Amino acid sequence: MSLRRFNELRGEEVAYAIHRQDRTFLPPEDHCPLDPTRPGGPPTEIPFAAFEIVVFDNLFPSFEAPAGAAEVVVYTDDHHGSFAGLAPERAEALMWVWRHRYEELGAREDVRYVLIFENRGVEVGTTLHHPHGQIYAFPFLPPVPKLELDADARLGGCAVCALLERELDDGERIVYSGEDVVAYVPFAARWPYETHVVVREHRPSLLECDGGELQSLARALQAVTRGFDRLFARPFPYVMVVHQAPTSSPPPRGTGARTGHLHVEFYPPLRTAEKLKYLAGCEQGAGTFIMDVMPEGSAAALREAIESA
Ligand SMILES: [Zn+2]
Ligand SMILES: [Zn+2]
Ligand SMILES: [Zn+2]
Repeated sequence: MSLRRFNELRGEEVAYAIHRQDRTFLPPEDHCPLDPTRPGGPPTEIPFAAFEIVVFDNLFPSFEAPAGAAEVVVYTDDHHGSFAGLAPERAEALMWVWRHRYEELGAREDVRYVLIFENRGVEVGTTLHHPHGQIYAFPFLPPVPKLELDADARLGGCAVCALLERELDDGERIVYSGEDVVAYVPFAARWPYETHVVVREHRPSLLECDGGELQSLARALQAVTRGFDRLFARPFPYVMVVHQAPTSSPPPRGTGARTGHLHVEFYPPLRTAEKLKYLAGCEQGAGTFIMDVMPEGSAAALREAIESA
């Protein structure tokens, strides 16, 4: 069982899921638990000989009913694939899967925030190479989404809308510009190639997006991740997170409104093809990020990589 403690000094929850110590760690390729179960082969987590997208409960959950949930989303039955390399229709279908999970988990009384994410690469702690993402349904509003809602209050409206407008006016950090979706390295990026993929219209979540927007989102996310892989001509590690409106009821601060604006953030740990950015004394001890590249410089390099990928 996982349990929670409140860290008074930081004012935040910590989840203890000690069974996770024993979870499968970088198994050999022929023992991949996310592969299909092939006739005559060993059983995997997925009892089908072939599949497109599969969602199931995480066997080693950080959160579980009646206080949240943890799910695994397998993108493909191709062990050697990647999100960037999925067929466009599969990536688009994944947006609908995300939407469905957000809706179903978000409707639960014990769920206040649904976080869809992917950790790609051993540099960010992936324990299974098979292309997959995860979904955590939190029984509380976690600190990062809360900071974004605080920014809404500080700016007197949707912060994501305001920042998108600033980025579009400035233009220098835009790396991808589609009809419904824009990607940029933010003005005050905390990672060398941090990238935000933002739906142009104010949509609190995937639920408010139309089919065209979901298709555009898939296209933009694949353009960015292909650009990443192109950048240093190597599989590019990243953390990808989907930020959306909290699903708590009633809405936070009793506003009665659904707050939040769907966007996807990438936090890639690489500074160069071989060098990692570490979170060290200043970042951990003070919470202040020290950067050795300007966002405009990395945006120019990433934009070129996206265009030529
Ligand atoms: Zn596999
Ligand atoms: Zn907005
Ligand atoms: Zn965000």
